[in-house]
Amino acid sequence: MSYIDEALERVKAKNASEPEFLQAVEEVLESLRPVIEANEEKYRKEALLERLTEPDRQFKFRVPWVDDNGQVQVNTGYRVQFNNAIGPYKGGLRLHPSVNTGIIKFLGFEQIFKNSLTGLPIGGGKGGADFDPKGKSDREVMAFCQSFMTELCKYIGADVDVPAGDIGTGAREIGYMFGQYKKIKSCYEGVLTGKGLSYGGSLARTEATGYGLLYITEELMKCHGESMEGKTVVISGAGNVAIYATQKAQQMGAKVVTCSDSTGWIYDPNGIDVALLKEVKEVKRARLTEYAAARPDAEYHEGRGVWSVKCDIALPCATQNELHLDDAKLLVANGCKAVCEGANMPTTIDATKYLQENGVWFIGGKAANAGGVATSALEMSQNSERLSWTFEEVDSKLKQIMVNIYHNIDDAAKRYGQEGNYVMGANIAGFEKVAEAMIAQGVV
Ligand code: GLU
Repeated sequence: MSYIDEALERVKAKNASEPEFLQAVEEVLESLRPVIEANEEKYRKEALLERLTEPDRQFKFRVPWVDDNGQVQVNTGYRVQFNNAIGPYKGGLRLHPSVNTGIIKFLGFEQIFKNSLTGLPIGGGKGGADFDPKGKSDREVMAFCQSFMTELCKYIGADVDVPAGDIGTGAREIGYMFGQYKKIKSCYEGVLTGKGLSYGGSLARTEATGYGLLYITEELMKCHGESMEGKTVVISGAGNVAIYATQKAQQMGAKVVTCSDSTGWIYDPNGIDVALLKEVKEVKRARLTEYAAARPDAEYHEGRGVWSVKCDIALPCATQNELHLDDAKLLVANGCKAVCEGANMPTTIDATKYLQENGVWFIGGKAANAGGVATSALEMSQNSERLSWTFEEVDSKLKQIMVNIYHNIDDAAKRYGQEGNYVMGANIAGFEKVAEAMIAQGVV
């Protein structure tokens, strides 16, 4: 049996109850086949794939806190430190009721390759809790964040592991967590990214994932003789990534006609009003029905449906496994040219294959949404030199990073005779650097 198949079987047997983690591993290992086969004996002897798919360590802990009724609540917190071959562990904290070990491991595993692709010195990690910030008061969110950090602070540090935001963790949560870290450790250091601008945050970090997604999409279009101007774009999600992806797409002259949340979706034929979306989601923290109520021409639909809208470009920016095979078929039938992932693993494996086989240019999240973590690494650099860069400086670095990622993944795919397979290109380019660093550092 080939080394890849052996390794895959072992991972499946060991992690049978973690479907999202297995999905992420399968996607990566399958696409690494040509690289691994070219180095079969060496990598098998090094047990490279076993080492890559087993986290360095993982923490799971109790997070008790008191709600506004005086009732004690208990959540489960996680931090998975996956791989630090090329830099301190780096990755966000997801706060969502669906969070479990398998979800954090899939996200941490993907982060290894994504972070490598940025070209910056950051390893892979991820964390979070099954806490739902929705409907909680600010005081409850603070109580949770403080309790969470009381345990997490034992395992992280500016040169060890640097968490950040993800679904459910935004500026408010990062602020409370940073305050608690500083209080316990008596140490003012860049231990978290996505911080507020008054205490060490970076300009353009908030916008970075969405903007970065559009910079790479624009480069993809340009390299195929197209532009963003006049294109119809469908976007899922209504969080930080979706909001700034919509804003940048509109600045580039495209029309974004959809957004969605966990209960429904909006079709706005006049183009999504970003200011209104921000008001509904970030200030009122309300449902999208409020968006529709304020826009007479916009339609609100319950459930899923964004991918049924005719478009040139689709940008899934909500969450994992939100774009299924049936959705891919609709996109192809409607003439969609490109799909680039703003979320982590939003497209199922069979949907990805279908899109690729039907000539849709597809860039996976590890490349397409790397702008967020790349800008986090720029925040770390600014914290280390105790300086702040201007918005333009950070934004132009972000743009350059995304353009470089596009060309690196395109070149990697071409090197292995798979031109246009950006999923393979991203996995190969991300893997090569990490594998070389792991082997150079010995068996650790
Ligand atoms: N959560 C983001 C991601 O999935 C950002 C992580 C970070 O900035 O560390 O890449």
